[in-house]
Amino acid sequence: MTETRIVNSPILQEYLRQIAPDRGVFIGGEFRAAEKTFAVTDPATGDVVGQIADGSSADAQAAVEAAEQALVAWRQTSPRERSVILRRAFDLMLEEEEQLTLLISAEHGKALTDARAEVRYAAEFFRWFSEEAVRIEGTYVPAPGGGARTIVTHRPIGVVALITPWNFPAAMATRKLAPALAAGCTALLRPASFTPLTSLAVMHILVRAGVPAGVVNMVPSSHASEISDIWLAAEPVRAVSFTGSTRVGQILMAEAAKRILVSSMELGGNAPFVVAPDADLDAAVEGALVAKLRGGGQACTAANRLYVHADVAEEFTRRYVARISAMPVGPAIDPHTQIGPVISEAAAAEMHGYVDGALAEGARMALQLEVPCGGSFFPPTVLTDVPLDATILQTEVFGPISPIATWTDEEELLAAVNGTEFGLASYVFSQDLQWAMKFAESMEVGMVGINRGLISDPAAPFGGVKQSGIGREGGHEGVHEFLETQYLSVNW
Ligand code: NAD
Repeated sequence: MTETRIVNSPILQEYLRQIAPDRGVFIGGEFRAAEKTFAVTDPATGDVVGQIADGSSADAQAAVEAAEQALVAWRQTSPRERSVILRRAFDLMLEEEEQLTLLISAEHGKALTDARAEVRYAAEFFRWFSEEAVRIEGTYVPAPGGGARTIVTHRPIGVVALITPWNFPAAMATRKLAPALAAGCTALLRPASFTPLTSLAVMHILVRAGVPAGVVNMVPSSHASEISDIWLAAEPVRAVSFTGSTRVGQILMAEAAKRILVSSMELGGNAPFVVAPDADLDAAVEGALVAKLRGGGQACTAANRLYVHADVAEEFTRRYVARISAMPVGPAIDPHTQIGPVISEAAAAEMHGYVDGALAEGARMALQLEVPCGGSFFPPTVLTDVPLDATILQTEVFGPISPIATWTDEEELLAAVNGTEFGLASYVFSQDLQWAMKFAESMEVGMVGINRGLISDPAAPFGGVKQSGIGREGGHEGVHEFLETQYLSVNW
């Protein structure tokens, strides 16, 4: 390793020059400066990656007007035209894989391999929805009572507000933008203030892909609610799609309720990872590593609580600890790094609190790695003998902590698995597929990985039940979040 700071990468510097964060407010096809800027930092070093324009409430208002104007023509474009633009965005994003990888790692801190995987995953939403754009079907049937034909069509909702989190700076934006554009909606995007630069790069890609002025608008802001308050109250805005914590989702749903906005909510998770006594332990360990440590444990689908059958718990833990012990923790600039920092020092402090709490409740520390000095690193930690009712198992822990609890009784296991307010992702490892499927169907979650630690797929409906959210992103369902149904009853 020669260079020690990702911000000094010439490729990144050139890319930042191209996307010009100081003109990071994007309205009506124009990149604009703002009165103020705010700093985006690399959590591994504290280095400033860029100073981005800090959008104002006037910008938020102007963005609504631009989106409203652009809607008139955009909703009339042919599905094929929208499809071609989205497909071009997919190609362009992959052409810029190297630059985007560095940018994601710089503002988020995740390892380069994770950032690269995110670029491909994020781009795939453009490809998938370029294919979906031309397959939005309706129905035409005789009314059961006779005397009429029933025609059902789906049309764009209108102007939509999109609010994204920091943990997947590219994918959380494309997962919303691609279906919104495929549907014929115009969009307002507010990216998380920790990671707005990647979203800005996506705006530039969309311009080059041929998205007309005003169809997509972005207002970065250091003030979380200033922009969204205006958007949710603005008359032309008809839907809100939010990804983030359950707490903020509740606030936004309350706002959305005032105007009965269509609301898609992709919220917090607390994924159980179940290992049965007959599981292939090597596969289970590899699955757990991916499910737990991708993005440094900061995924909504992250395996937050590992329930391993008592007969195999010791062996599973031995192999899992051995694998994590060999994982380099460090800044993303080091190509060997597999685990980066957590997003902020506050997040690292929170992690320490969770570990202390679990130890006080009877858990044992099986592993805690060393981490580099400086930056917001939190040492990957494995806890064993975690009591089934421990607080850490009830909480969404957004970091590299693996609490392992053991189980013997299936009913008790299921009660524990379903015993939180969350219901996003889950994982089951067993060689008895019949048992695994039966168990999966009894879990109160939106998604289950069976003998797999990675479930995110643009071609499948992503989303949760209970307080993990409402609606689905990706799959055939994703575009319907941005469509409204109209039915015509035709006299025959
Ligand atoms: P967060 O809820 O703190 O923030 C999400 C977004 O909302 C950010 O852009 C933030 O600036 C903004 N925000 C915060 N407070 C706001 C307010 N009062 N009004 C309007 N906007 C506000 O979440 P986060 O820390 O960015 O992301 C982590 C959370 O996101 C975790 O809970 C994770 O599970 C969840 N998440 C869910 C999914 C999913 O698909 N279900 C995917 C990724 C992340």
